[in-house]
Amino acid sequence: EDDGKVIEYLLKVLVVGDLGVGKTSLIQRYVHNIFNREYKATIGVDFAYKLIQISSNKVVRLQLWDIAGQERYGNMTRVYYREAVGAMVVFDLTRQNTLEAVKKWKADIDAKVRLQDANESPIPVILLANKCDMVQGSLNPSQLDAFCRENGFVKWYETSAKDNINVEESATYLVKKILETE
Ligand code: GDP
Ligand code: MG
Repeated sequence: EDDGKVIEYLLKVLVVGDLGVGKTSLIQRYVHNIFNREYKATIGVDFAYKLIQISSNKVVRLQLWDIAGQERYGNMTRVYYREAVGAMVVFDLTRQNTLEAVKKWKADIDAKVRLQDANESPIPVILLANKCDMVQGSLNPSQLDAFCRENGFVKWYETSAKDNINVEESATYLVKKILETE
């Protein structure tokens, strides 16, 4: 029934992964549609917002948390994770060790934040294989499928913040998954 009221969801989504994998670049591309080659290592936590119209009376205000410099320690405090309802774990397709670090990031998320449901389920997390513009054809889809099953990711995407590949698609998918849990 349509009583003219607009429902707005505020969703806190974390973007984690090793230093230099492209977290800030993906957020900048997604929110502002820009790519800036310049490397900027701010210290602290940055926020970015994106308003997504889901339907005529449903709006999502997506709050993206960028970890900006603290990723060098390989884990984050519980305060950072608090009330997050979804996450993106990013690795760099040109650096194998950043994929190995993905397991550690996923474990950190699962240990520090849970949904408020009866089972305290893990929050939905997607895996982003970034900088796909640099590595034509080196990706092994069935291997990444298996990796996602084993490590509890809802889905993976190859992305490029530079060439704007799958940036919007992956975020849209995650939001859809999050709304299924709400
Ligand atoms: P962060 O430390 O995870 O936030 O990574 P940044 O967003 O700062 O990116 C690190 C470096 O990788 C910067 O020089 C970016 O320009 C570059 N970069 C990020 N995403 C991409 C991408 O999709 N393709 C390419 N070729 N370079 C990227
Ligand atoms: Mg950054």
